[in-house]
Amino acid sequence: MSDSSAINEELQRHLNKLGEDFAARLGQELPQLSRDGQTLLHQHGSAERLKQVLQLRDQLHKLAGAAGTFGLAKLGQRARELEQQADAWLQALQQGQQNLEDFCAGLAQLAQLQLDSETPDKPATPAKKPRAVTPSASARRIYILEDQAAIGENMRLTLNNFGYHAEHFSRIADLDAAMQGCQPDALIVDVNLPDEQQTGLEYAAALQKHLEHSLPLLVITTHDDFATQLEAVRVGAQGYFVKPVDIPQLENRLERCFAQQQGEPYRVLIIDDDRELACRYSLILRGANMHVEMLHDPAEIFTCMHSFNPEVVLLDVNMPNCTGPELAQIIRFNDDWLRVPIIYLSAETGIAQQMSALIKAGDDFVTKPISDNALVTTVFSRAQRARLLSDALSRDSLTGLLKHADIKDQVGIELERAQRSGKPASVAMLDIDWFKKVNDNYGHAAGDNVIRALANLLRQRLRRIDSLGRYGGEEFLVVLPDCPADQARRVLDEIRQRFAELHFIADANEFTVTLSAGIASTENGPASADALLETADRALYSAKNGGRNRVQ
Ligand code: GH3
Ligand code: MG
Ligand code: MG
Repeated sequence: MSDSSAINEELQRHLNKLGEDFAARLGQELPQLSRDGQTLLHQHGSAERLKQVLQLRDQLHKLAGAAGTFGLAKLGQRARELEQQADAWLQALQQGQQNLEDFCAGLAQLAQLQLDSETPDKPATPAKKPRAVTPSASARRIYILEDQAAIGENMRLTLNNFGYHAEHFSRIADLDAAMQGCQPDALIVDVNLPDEQQTGLEYAAALQKHLEHSLPLLVITTHDDFATQLEAVRVGAQGYFVKPVDIPQLENRLERCFAQQQGEPYRVLIIDDDRELACRYSLILRGANMHVEMLHDPAEIFTCMHSFNPEVVLLDVNMPNCTGPELAQIIRFNDDWLRVPIIYLSAETGIAQQMSALIKAGDDFVTKPISDNALVTTVFSRAQRARLLSDALSRDSLTGLLKHADIKDQVGIELERAQRSGKPASVAMLDIDWFKKVNDNYGHAAGDNVIRALANLLRQRLRRIDSLGRYGGEEFLVVLPDCPADQARRVLDEIRQRFAELHFIADANEFTVTLSAGIASTENGPASADALLETADRALYSAKNGGRNRVQ
């Protein structure tokens, strides 16, 4: 989670730097293009002419790919047009002085175009804003249709505690009116509505037909039969809950619906000594909503893998100083990066050479030139699978949060970042109170539900840049970058209150649970990750001793 801010910062810095270099290069390249155009006009040998136009065309091709990457969309577009013009001229039919003059005039205008647009357009991947600590502004809107007011209200309050913006409607007409005003992000409908002309499912079916994109739909009902479940599936329901509804479980399902909708962009590292080509690939992949970084000097691989944490590596085979397969073997020395697929991108089409590269290291071979679609598909499918595997390995299956080792690593990473940026980070250790009694009184499954509910609550209430982990059985660790201790305490205390207000159901019993938390921050001078964890642990211990249900 907090990786994303690192990527953004790193990417932004990298992009800015590349952009500056690129602008400096343009300052020389564009006037040169203009001069080349003038020479071309006065060139009379037709073989020389042809050669010059060919050269110019290739140069424009690189420029077209690169300029767009650096946010100079107009320049890129114009270079692309001129490239096409050169192509047209090269086809014998259109070779004529007039066409050539237009082309050369176009070349002369490129330099002016750069001067006019000194500030590049927005980069292809805008820096993502962290979600506000108070999520009310960005809270997901949930509409509940439930004719029994008590049940609907209870659900509304509980979902609001989780950080959603829930609204309850007893009548279809009221829900319909709200729908006209503002569409929700998800809909929960009760099947049986005795006072209405139609059932909740019939209403939902009619509604979905009118919508451009169907809404995530959850169904609540007193009927557990096959026919109703089938009807729910046909209406597009993504969850089916029998009353009395276990709301934390329902919330869990909502969370899953939303997680499917908005995956983080995949992170792709391109290593190629040909900068223009790397820029071109990067442009295409960014266009497909991926985060891309480029590396031109293989010696920087360690810092790059560490800070960018790519999910796929695209690797050129032929590079000076260090070949692709050599670099792939270096990457494979480190077990931390075992999960990252390495795809060779090479003009090498000989099967023998490809196999010898793959045997040393690397997972796949893609030959240049590759179509844009093929590139996107190859990288996307690899990244998708890599993330699934990685999540399965590093995420806890009950809660979906990071496991012990990974969240602990996160403390070190954020500590380093805090020291670099001068912005304090906080760490909080949370532990559920008297949890053993929950298990003893209501059963292990009910206990699991409580653990899941707390995980979901943390996910809802914290920012995207925060890291959340399940530290132990009923113990959680959260790492909050750019967050001083007093702010961390406010946020955690709010979570504590909301958690205490959640009502859990096990068989016919309803119960509530509380938690205690201890906070440590980087503000109190230099610290190590271990020292931070120890401080947070001691604070938690004193919260427990102080009577529990509190943040220390
Ligand atoms: P305290 O307020 O001091 O934290 O008391 P506690 O009962 O919460 O603490 P204790 O550490 O004594 O008990 C934790 C219990 O959590 C013991 C263990 O069986 C239970 N537990 C650990 N992991 C899981 C899990 O994944 N699911 C369930 N249901 N229970 C778990
Ligand atoms: Mg406990
Ligand atoms: Mg414990």
